Amino acid sequence: MTVRCSAKGCRDDASWVLVWNNPRLHEPGREKQWVACGDHREHLSTFLEVRGFLRRVDPLGAPPSSPRLS
Ligand SMILES: [Zn+2]
Repeated sequence: MTVRCSAKGCRDDASWVLVWNNPRLHEPGREKQWVACGDHREHLSTFLEVRGFLRRVDPLGAPPSSPRLS
């Protein structure tokens, strides 16, 4: 399954999830998500960060963390 980058006009597959919340619009427990390709991750996260909306950036489709012994 592929997810397209949220950046305007970008047709690349996303590989990052930007989790954000606008306290003026959203309840504190609500989390909005944008997805971004490698090229747009910084652009979009900076956009959110300067507004104080960004919570975290996660790898897209990362498996739940579990210990690996190999
Ligand atoms: Zn992109």
